Amino acid sequence: MSQKHIIVIGAGPIGLSSALLLLNSGHSVTIIARDFPAPFETIDPISQINYTAPWAGAHNRFIPPSPSVPHTQLEHSLSLITYNHMKSLYESPHRKEAGITFLPGIEYLEAPSAEYLSLSKPNNPILNQLYQLCGYKILSPEYFPDTKIKWGCKYESYCLNPMVYLSFLLRRFFYLGGKLLKRELRCPEEVFSLNLGTDIVVNASGTNFGLDPAVFITRGQTVLVKESCPVTITRQNKDGTYSFSVPRGYQGGTIIGGTREVNNWSMEADLEVRKKLLKGFVEMYPDILGENGKKELTVLRDIVGRRPTRNGGPRIEGEKIEGKGFIMHAYGFGGRGFELSWGVAEMVRDGVEGWLRGKEKGKL
Ligand SMILES: Cc1cc2nc3c(=O)[nH]c(=O)nc-3n(C[C@H](O)[C@H](O)[C@H](O)COP(=O)(O)OP(=O)(O)OC[C@H]3O[C@@H](n4cnc5c(N)ncnc54)[C@H](O)[C@@H]3O)c2cc1C
Repeated sequence: MSQKHIIVIGAGPIGLSSALLLLNSGHSVTIIARDFPAPFETIDPISQINYTAPWAGAHNRFIPPSPSVPHTQLEHSLSLITYNHMKSLYESPHRKEAGITFLPGIEYLEAPSAEYLSLSKPNNPILNQLYQLCGYKILSPEYFPDTKIKWGCKYESYCLNPMVYLSFLLRRFFYLGGKLLKRELRCPEEVFSLNLGTDIVVNASGTNFGLDPAVFITRGQTVLVKESCPVTITRQNKDGTYSFSVPRGYQGGTIIGGTREVNNWSMEADLEVRKKLLKGFVEMYPDILGENGKKELTVLRDIVGRRPTRNGGPRIEGEKIEGKGFIMHAYGFGGRGFELSWGVAEMVRDGVEGWLRGKEKGKL
């Protein structure tokens, strides 16, 4: 296959992972993005609120798929691919510069769905698969923090410090010969008019420029605290609220979360919500305060982000643009962009190469 020039729109986890895999497959790749990874401390909460990646935790949490909802099954398989990729990265000499840690993940649920409950049944294939992958175990009630919890599990999970991790990917991409262009675009097709000799566009813009009516935002408010935490814990309450910790290793502090608010566009952190998040987490896991009789967590920063969510699940598919070329769409990953990223990147690479093979055979 002759070398093609591929433009990837976006430098979040989806764009950067896809760009790296395409580059490794021998293509010439340029990333065009409005925002690129930079030290978290320099990311502007207002002008860069629509770059979701910096505001993520980011941890991995397995969500058991529902047999009747196909996108949950796809997402589950993408999370397994990504887990293996992250494990290899963690076992490489680069774990520290990539900002990745593997650590115990614990989940407590007050009102588990049928998918979670089915994991507790004998010989459940998903449970067996997760046990092999990461030692996934259902917890017995004696390990629950209170009697409201009805179901719990524990496994080896991972956490990323998003801007450290994405800067690592960006540096690798550049070192391997990838090109970068900082631009704001109005739509994916605009790339074909930039005279860059573009054969294919990968649309990893997060929200698809507001052009897809199925896409909406889910606001998330969290708090970055100075204290470290040896586990990533998630509690899902009956009323739909959450309490979680996502440690950002190597002195990155810990994210305490968090909210999920559909179509809430507010950019300001609500200080009452901050108080509730901190109180709720300390009640569930007082060990985070350490042994020195500390009463409160030390807040470094409030965080507000917009998860790029999509009805019916993410869009990962190719589109032929008559007279112009091919766009491979990969957007709408909601609260799971990091934990699905390498599985998505493989689908993007396979979609691009499938299109190129079809073109060479003269079918398209
Ligand atoms: C509070 C919170 C907690 C989260 N926690 C987790 C977690 O624990 N685990 C997890 O996996 N995920 C988590 N997420 C979700 C995760 O951050 C997103 O799923 C992920 O960032 C989506 O990746 P993306 O590459 O699709 O989009 P983004 O990260 O938003 O990147 C989009 C890219 O496209 C570019 N772009 C967009 N529009 C244009 C334009 N018009 N012109 C040029 N460039 C453009 C942007 O500049 C950027 O480079 C969390 C999110 C929030 C808000």
